[in-house]
Amino acid sequence: MTEGVVFDIQHFCVDDGPGIRTTVFLKGCQLRCAWCHNPEGLLPQPQLFYAASSCTSCQACASVCPGGCHQFVDGHHTVDFSSCTLCGACVDACPNEALRVSGRRMTPQDVLVEVLRDMTFFETSGGGVTLSGGEPLLQVDFACAIARGAKEKGLHVSVETSGHCAEEALRRISKYVDLFLFDFKLASSERHKQLTGVGNEKILNNLALLNSLGKPVILRCPIIPGCNDHEEHYLSIASLANQTPCIREIHLEPYHPFGIGKYASLGMKARYDWREIATSQCVKEAAEFIRSHTNTEVQIT
Ligand code: SF4
Ligand code: SF4
Repeated sequence: MTEGVVFDIQHFCVDDGPGIRTTVFLKGCQLRCAWCHNPEGLLPQPQLFYAASSCTSCQACASVCPGGCHQFVDGHHTVDFSSCTLCGACVDACPNEALRVSGRRMTPQDVLVEVLRDMTFFETSGGGVTLSGGEPLLQVDFACAIARGAKEKGLHVSVETSGHCAEEALRRISKYVDLFLFDFKLASSERHKQLTGVGNEKILNNLALLNSLGKPVILRCPIIPGCNDHEEHYLSIASLANQTPCIREIHLEPYHPFGIGKYASLGMKARYDWREIATSQCVKEAAEFIRSHTNTEVQIT
C-alpha cells in the first residue's frame, strides 16, 4: 500500500475550510519562500527535531547516540544533524522530550483512522479533512488515497496547495476535493522566483485549470512586510479574483515570524531573518483596498 510522510495531524482546526476540520500536514515542498515559518514541511524525509528550550544538558542523548551527534562544551549542547541516521535512540533516552523525529511514515489507512475519530465534530459542524503541507500534491498517490477514502466516508475534503505541482496531480485529486485553498504570493514571476525559488507560471496555469474544472477555490494571500504589502500587489489579487470565477473568497494571511526558531531545531538555516510582523492596521487597509476593486469576499485569517 502507498505510504506517505506526515509531519503533523492537527485536530479542531477552523481556518482550513468549512466547519471543524482535521488537518493533515504532508512533508516536502519544492518552494523555498523567504518567509516560510513551517520549515518542518520543506524536506520530504523525516528529520530530527531538537527543542533547546526543553534541554537540561543531562547528556543522556550523548550516551546512547551511535554517531556522536550530541556534543557538550561547557554544558552547551550542540547537535550534528548531518551525521544523524534517525535511529531514534536519543529520542527515547531524553527525559525531557527535547528530542523528537519530525515526520512519520503512514499509510492512507493510518491517516484515515486518526481523522475519522473526529467524525462527530465533522457531522455537527459540516467540517472534514484538509490536506496541507509542505505541498501535499508532491505525494500525490498518498494524498489521493486519503482524499478518496475521506470522500467515501462522506467527509468534506479540502486541499491547501502552493499550486506548484504537476497538472496531472491536480487533475487526479480534484475529483475527490470540494475546496482548494490556493496560495497567491506575488504577481511578478521574476520576483516570485527571487523570493520563493520558482516562477509563478505553473501556479497560475494550475489555477486556470481548477477554474476550467469548476472547482471552488479560496485564494490565500500571505501579506509579507517589505515584500508584497503594497497597492500594486493588492490590485493584482483583486484582478486575479475578477478574472477567475472559481475564486469564491480571498483570505489575507498576515505574516508572523513565530516559526523562525524551528529552523535551528532542525539544523536548517532560514533564508532570511524576517522578523517584521504584518500589523493588523496594514492588513485591514489591504482588505479595504482589495474590496474596493472586487466583489469577491475578502477575509483576514
Ligand atoms: S536519532 Fe540521530 S542523533 Fe539521535 S541517537 Fe540516533 S543517530 Fe544519534
Ligand atoms: S537527553 Fe534531552 S535533556 Fe538530556 S541533554 Fe539530551 S536533549 Fe538535553
